[in-house]
Amino acid sequence: MQSLEAVLAERAVAMGADIRRGSRVEHFEASKDGVVVQAGGERLSALWLVGCDGGRSAVRKAGGFAFVGTDPEFTGYSVDVVLADPEALSPGRNYTATGMYTYARPGVIAMVDFDGGAAHRTQALTLDHVQSVLRRVSGADVTLAALSLATTWTDRAFQATDYRRGRVLLAGDAAHIHSPLGGQGLNLGLGDALNLGWKLAAVIRGEATIDLLDSYGVERRPEGARILDWSRAQVALMRPTPSTRALEAIVRDLIATGDGATYFAEKVWNLSLHYDLGGGHPLVGRSVPDFAFASGPSVGVRLREGRALLLDFAPGAPLAALVAPWLGRLSYVAGEPEDRLGLSAVLVRPDGFVAWASDEDG
Ligand SMILES: Cc1cc2nc3c(=O)[nH]c(=O)nc-3n(C[C@H](O)[C@H](O)[C@H](O)COP(=O)(O)OP(=O)(O)OC[C@H]3O[C@@H](n4cnc5c(N)ncnc54)[C@H](O)[C@@H]3O)c2cc1C
Repeated sequence: MQSLEAVLAERAVAMGADIRRGSRVEHFEASKDGVVVQAGGERLSALWLVGCDGGRSAVRKAGGFAFVGTDPEFTGYSVDVVLADPEALSPGRNYTATGMYTYARPGVIAMVDFDGGAAHRTQALTLDHVQSVLRRVSGADVTLAALSLATTWTDRAFQATDYRRGRVLLAGDAAHIHSPLGGQGLNLGLGDALNLGWKLAAVIRGEATIDLLDSYGVERRPEGARILDWSRAQVALMRPTPSTRALEAIVRDLIATGDGATYFAEKVWNLSLHYDLGGGHPLVGRSVPDFAFASGPSVGVRLREGRALLLDFAPGAPLAALVAPWLGRLSYVAGEPEDRLGLSAVLVRPDGFVAWASDEDG
């Protein structure tokens, strides 16, 4: 996470962003023309405010965004410990009559205690408390010699009903929270940023009307809702009941099939992400394939410029004259890729999603 933040910060600064660390947003006033933010003793005026301030987002609360969802069933613990009797716990993932724990030697433990989320942020994370939860969840008479790190989390799953209210927008955990099971939260937030970034830039530059920003919530809210449900399904398979263990065994059998493994891989890696952008071509609304060319950068490398791309694969570059007036706003790439996948031309949004495509025989 730290290295990712360093890469993103370097890129943001290179693009001209002014990062003010330690400056907390305390208050803001939004009007139809802009936002005035009180932060770190300063008053800052801006055209737009994007709350990327995490699950307890001050921007979301002050902005009056409704946040709806499901309350937690458990408190999750991530702890680093020294065990007096390391053999008392079974390595790997263990479902028990009272919860679930994972144990990686020598002392990295994650555990789930179905207490309705009661201990999260209310209970001091002392050695005695962690030991008593671990004993209850594992069913083993284990003893902690030391506790070096402990944090708690829950499966609370909530989402903002709107991602934009006037001049204020939400992205990342500010817009949606869910349990960290399955490790989906970070990518979900990055997806929000990718989707919103180019739209906001286009509106600020006067290249698009404000309506474009509504497509941000239209495209990203269903994706957030899908991930919340994915995390809820994981919780449903962890409940400490015999019927849940029976259901989990069936899901394991399904994952062991080719179709089941493909289904789960597509969901976890989000290969099936599809924005409904209209248009008849099956590629529209999907992530563009990373077309490679015999000379010059691939599509993935070109997208790092943050500009839309028009890919013209047909011999003789027939779209060159058509695109000429638009070259200030998109990059034009003419040439045949190593595999054109039956396509003659593709228009790619700056976030890498296909806006329009045409087949060779189209
Ligand atoms: C235990 C745990 C394990 C996880 N594991 C994974 C994983 O394996 N994979 C994965 O994808 N995700 C994981 N996640 C989720 C992931 O960490 C989050 O989804 C991600 O960090 C959200 O990023 P964000 O930028 O939206 O919010 P945050 O990372 O919470 O960042 C919010 C930022 O806003 C700042 N801020 C807060 N309030 C203010 C204010 N008033 N003014 C100014 N700044 C403010 C904060 O200081 C912080 O820098 C895990 C989460 C937890 C709790």
